[in-house]
Amino acid sequence: MPKYSQPQDDALYLEPADLQGSLGLALKVDRVLFHERTQYQDLHILQCGPLGRVLLLDGIIQTTEMDEAGYHEMLVHVPLLTHPAPSRVLIIGGGDGGTLREVLKHPTVQRVDMCEIDGGVVEAAKRYFPGLATGFSDPRLNLTIGDGVAFVREAAQPYDAILIDSSDPDGPAEGLFGQAFYQSVKKALAPGGVGAALAESYYLYQDLIRDTFAVLEGIFPYACYYTAQVPTYNSGLIGFALMTTSAYPLSPPDPMRVHELIPLRYYTEAAHRAAFALPRPALELLPPR
Ligand code: SAM
Repeated sequence: MPKYSQPQDDALYLEPADLQGSLGLALKVDRVLFHERTQYQDLHILQCGPLGRVLLLDGIIQTTEMDEAGYHEMLVHVPLLTHPAPSRVLIIGGGDGGTLREVLKHPTVQRVDMCEIDGGVVEAAKRYFPGLATGFSDPRLNLTIGDGVAFVREAAQPYDAILIDSSDPDGPAEGLFGQAFYQSVKKALAPGGVGAALAESYYLYQDLIRDTFAVLEGIFPYACYYTAQVPTYNSGLIGFALMTTSAYPLSPPDPMRVHELIPLRYYTEAAHRAAFALPRPALELLPPR
């Protein structure tokens, strides 16, 4: 469990530090809107000036109204636009609703299964993040409150896309980063299916990225890492793993399909292409191509 100071009105809130304790984030908290110890984690919702509302789980920023679009739009639209016509989509985690909101923008999507371990996150999002939680009443959604590891292992129907919107690999999300889980993901994907998962910052989680891509290389015909800028995540960026069940080279996004995704706050076709242009510190962690 990470250590963090208790947020209070007008207090400076410090996140747990990264890079062996030398880097952390501080938030100026205007108001603590909500605090609950759920069955799985310590949940805070804070009001923080221009960041808007901020969701913390176990003291770690999950999402802020200011920059959530960078994370959610890139986790969803990059894989879904890689698939020719995604119809059945599975979301693992994603309790704040942002990933679901983006998936439902795709007109080809007919059914979304979502498995979030913590019903407390979903309830808090409905109440405090109306801009993220828009999809929870959509008839295409089948929401399960349960462990994503078991849900994927037992999935009966194949999915065109599986999106893993998890928290960091400490706590309940630990099992979402291992070999057995990714084997289940591959099994649960239809031919031509595509997956995307949180794969962290290449400055902070070097061992995790090395291990994850070593595992993905052994399971999927094609897997690659891409990034997005999200200033309220430690190090200012976040990484994703993209995996496909066929070894096709990634096609550029179809401008007509991008046009249908309304509204967008971060995603552009250029940002999609640029997300795969990796600097050396990232390339050094990945298997050679
Ligand atoms: N991407 C954000 C980040 O890392 O900052 C995380 C967003 S948050 C919505 C991630 C969600 O994953 C949380 O609501 C958490 O409860 C959920 N989660 C964690 N472990 C899980 C598991 N084993 N199965 C399903 N959901 C899980």
